[in-house]
Formats: sequence, C-alpha cells, structure tokens
Amino acid sequence: MLLMKAVKERVLLVEDEPAMRIALQDALEAEGYRVLTARDGQAGLERALKEKPALLLLDVMLPGLNGFEICAQLRRLGNPVPVLMLTAKGTVGDRVAGLEAGADDYLCKPFDMAELVARIHALLRRTQRQTQALEILRLGAVEIDLGKQIARSGGQIIHLSAREFAMLRLMAEAGGEPVTREHFLDVVWGYTSFPTTRTVDNYITLLRRKLEDDPENPRWIQTVRAVGYRLEV
Ligand code: CA
Repeated sequence: MLLMKAVKERVLLVEDEPAMRIALQDALEAEGYRVLTARDGQAGLERALKEKPALLLLDVMLPGLNGFEICAQLRRLGNPVPVLMLTAKGTVGDRVAGLEAGADDYLCKPFDMAELVARIHALLRRTQRQTQALEILRLGAVEIDLGKQIARSGGQIIHLSAREFAMLRLMAEAGGEPVTREHFLDVVWGYTSFPTTRTVDNYITLLRRKLEDDPENPRWIQTVRAVGYRLEV
C-alpha cells in the first residue's frame, strides 16, 4: 500500500534581501512547507491574491509597497490570509502599525529560526480552527465561499476577482441592509486609488452577469434607489 504524504501548506515569503530570503526558504522547506517567494511589494501582493497561500511571511521594508501596505490592501480586499510580519526593529511603533494593518503576529529581526517555525505552526493551527466556521454565501444555485474565495454553480467554477469577492462580503455582512456606493469605495478600493461611484455600478453589473440567472432583472443583488445595493438574503 502506498503511503500518501500529507500535502504541506504553501507559505508565501516576501523578502527583498537575498541572503535572508534563501535562509528562510531553506528553513521552511526543511519543515516540509512549500515556499513561494516574492522580492518586492507589488509582486508579493499579486502572488498573495493569485496563489492564495496558507500563510504570508511578510518583511516590512520592501521596495515598492511596504509590508504594512500589502497587509492593509489584502484586508481591504477581504483576503483572510494569516500574516506574520517580520519587523526590522523591535519598536512599539512598528508593532502597532503591523497589527493595525491587519497582521496576525510579528517577529523582530534578528530572530531565532526555531521561534519563527513555532510561530508559523501556531498561526496556521489557529487559522485552521477559525476557518472551520465557514463563510458560505448561497444565492440560489450559486455557492460562494468567502473565506477561500471560491464561487461555484452546479460544480462549475465562477471566476470572481478579489474586488468582487470583497463586494459580496461587504453586502453579506450588511445582512440584507443596503451598502452605499461610498462605503463600497471606502472599504473595497480604499484611499490609494480614486475611482468614482460609477465604478461601483460597473462592478455590480459584472457581478450580476456572473451570478444572476437574469442580470437585467436581478433576484439577489438589488438596487436601492439613491442609496446603493443590497443582497437579498
Ligand atoms: Ca527588507
């Protein structure tokens, strides 16, 4: 009988310093993790969104976006990936900024590799327990897993962007109450870009095309005149 090796979780490591990156990658691979890497902030953010790793190991000082910005952007998009931040200095300011940006834990450089590995184990265990409480949204035949960011209809995958998942999450959390266009912009787009309320309408049109049987006459994503949109729940 063949013994199946347990598939280990994928960790995304965002670190610009080559020596540190290689050392971390080696240590994590020795623990059986599959390690994805990125060398700058933008690449790190893109890989985190695209590859959905089980955990993000995030350096703070990075070219392009820094670690705080990456973390804040992921949270804004409703991405729940657990984040362990590697701060260069043990200042209270850095620690607070990291936690405010939505990091789950932090470790100050220089750190002990054994402690890092222990923190990663602990964080993964904690998140696995939390995600047992699944966040499933059902709209007729469409099933949307907001945590894993997967949408299906009758076994077929429906491709939704990170922003579309974030909009659905926002409406789901409102529990049937309307969400204003301005609130969508604040939460889903944040302050780093300057879209107009028209952008929200365009995204809603796309969501209806993907999720509604009759997008012109929507059953689930309702327009609330002069206010915004609500989810029929
Ligand atoms: Ca760095």
